[in-house]
Amino acid sequence: MKAQDIHLVWIRRDLRITDHTALFEATKNDAKVVLVFVFDTKILNLLPDKEDQRVDFIFQSLCDLNKQLEKYDTKIIIRHGDPIKEIPYVAQELGVTSVYFNEDYEPYAKARDQEVKGSLTKLNIKSFSFRDHIIFGSQILKPDQTPYVVYTPYKNTWLKKLKPLHWEEKRPQYNFVKVKDLKGLAKKITLREIGFSSHSTYYKSQNPSRSAAIQRLKEFSQNLSHYKENRDFPALDEATSLISPFLRFGLISVRECLRTIVKLKNEGARTWMSELIWREFFIMIMDMYPHVVNSSFKIQYKNLKWENNKEWFDKWKSGNTGFPIVDAGMRQLNKTGWMHNRVRMIVASFLVKDLLIDRRWGEQYFAEKLIDFELASNNGNWQWCASTGCDAQPYFRIFNPSLQSERFDKNAEYIKFWIPELSQISPKEIHHPEDSDLQNKSTYPKPIISHSVQKQKALRLFNPKK
Ligand SMILES: Cc1cc2nc3c(=O)[nH]c(=O)nc-3n(C[C@H](O)[C@H](O)[C@H](O)COP(=O)(O)OP(=O)(O)OC[C@H]3O[C@@H](n4cnc5c(N)ncnc54)[C@H](O)[C@@H]3O)c2cc1C
Repeated sequence: MKAQDIHLVWIRRDLRITDHTALFEATKNDAKVVLVFVFDTKILNLLPDKEDQRVDFIFQSLCDLNKQLEKYDTKIIIRHGDPIKEIPYVAQELGVTSVYFNEDYEPYAKARDQEVKGSLTKLNIKSFSFRDHIIFGSQILKPDQTPYVVYTPYKNTWLKKLKPLHWEEKRPQYNFVKVKDLKGLAKKITLREIGFSSHSTYYKSQNPSRSAAIQRLKEFSQNLSHYKENRDFPALDEATSLISPFLRFGLISVRECLRTIVKLKNEGARTWMSELIWREFFIMIMDMYPHVVNSSFKIQYKNLKWENNKEWFDKWKSGNTGFPIVDAGMRQLNKTGWMHNRVRMIVASFLVKDLLIDRRWGEQYFAEKLIDFELASNNGNWQWCASTGCDAQPYFRIFNPSLQSERFDKNAEYIKFWIPELSQISPKEIHHPEDSDLQNKSTYPKPIISHSVQKQKALRLFNPKK
């Protein structure tokens, strides 16, 4: 490396400067670095809601990052456009010799990154990419060198391979180019300028800042020993980490999560580790089998004849199906952008196997609403619930909303919180809306379907010969 070398670090889904692989690699040998982020118009133009919570989350996180950078007298350059043009442009303007970034495994991101690398090569600028937001992903293969399609053996191999070096902190040197030398590129940008407006409320402790992310991990680590027994009860929603948006946008690194786990050698920590491995499993599946984005993993379920009743779909979206546990979840999602995992499973199963609606409709709705939306996890979990995915639950296993409700929200605390009009109704009636007349005792709607009738239809849909 020559003394005057400057490296550009392209920040994407890794909005932090701590424990950051690309930044660590770029600053080895004392090179100077500049950070850049691009609000990608190809992604933003597809978002239907101009008050999108994720865009605000990213924007606020960038503002927070700039505050952290003040002490180094620098700023992150924020651009709005197509990264294929923006990254080579910024690299050229600053005369950098190399561009560093962390890998992203979504099909769109992989294609985009290839194009950016190609353009940089033509300009004689090197580019380097690194695995950062996962530990292994598709590096874990079966002994015959093909990818796993079943979670448990994937997890077992993943755990066997894990060594302390995998959670070691990637500690960069903060040798940033000063703001005065950024050639006016670090201009202030507003959300309005990129066509969005702010979304000021965030669920619980999910505020977009590095300090909120660290605080959440710290608080959760005190509950981690009870994670296994409490994580399925949505009324105890701080029993899970609530860390998903921070992990999704990289305000916290997966290695920081692992360091928390390995310090606590209890059953809760081991179970939490398994969830982080589910995340990697689905990222690996998307990386290896990109057809899952538009189609079923299991090809035999590609052309199932869904009923796709639009009126029912609207009632599902707005939380008005007359099944309280489903509606509570959808109202939580609409209000906060987040939903408890157990309830995500219940509402997804209900959409597919009770309303007989194509899971892709539900998946798309989640993609528009979830603050932690992650293509791989969303797709993998929807396919799991719909029985169309790899290692999914079998098609004949159909959640009974009443039993799920009774088991996981016994006192209907979660339901009553999100559906206050049911606050005076007994849990028993709430759990069994088809046998109660909730609509006459409150303003809550009556059930739009009969679970037992729809269940039979779902079984026939998956297996017409039976
Ligand atoms: C239909 C459906 C759609 C989903 N869509 C998403 C999504 O778009 N983005 C997303 O991050 N998670 C998704 N999940 C998984 C899961 O619901 C959330 O990760 C979890 O609720 C986030 O809360 P937490 O951070 O408190 O989780 P914790 O229980 O504390 O788990 C810690 C982390 O592990 C990961 N994780 C946990 N469970 C899963 C899982 N089943 N699959 C993959 N990763 C998991 C997440 O990164 C999570 O933050 C979906 C689940 C279902 C059933």
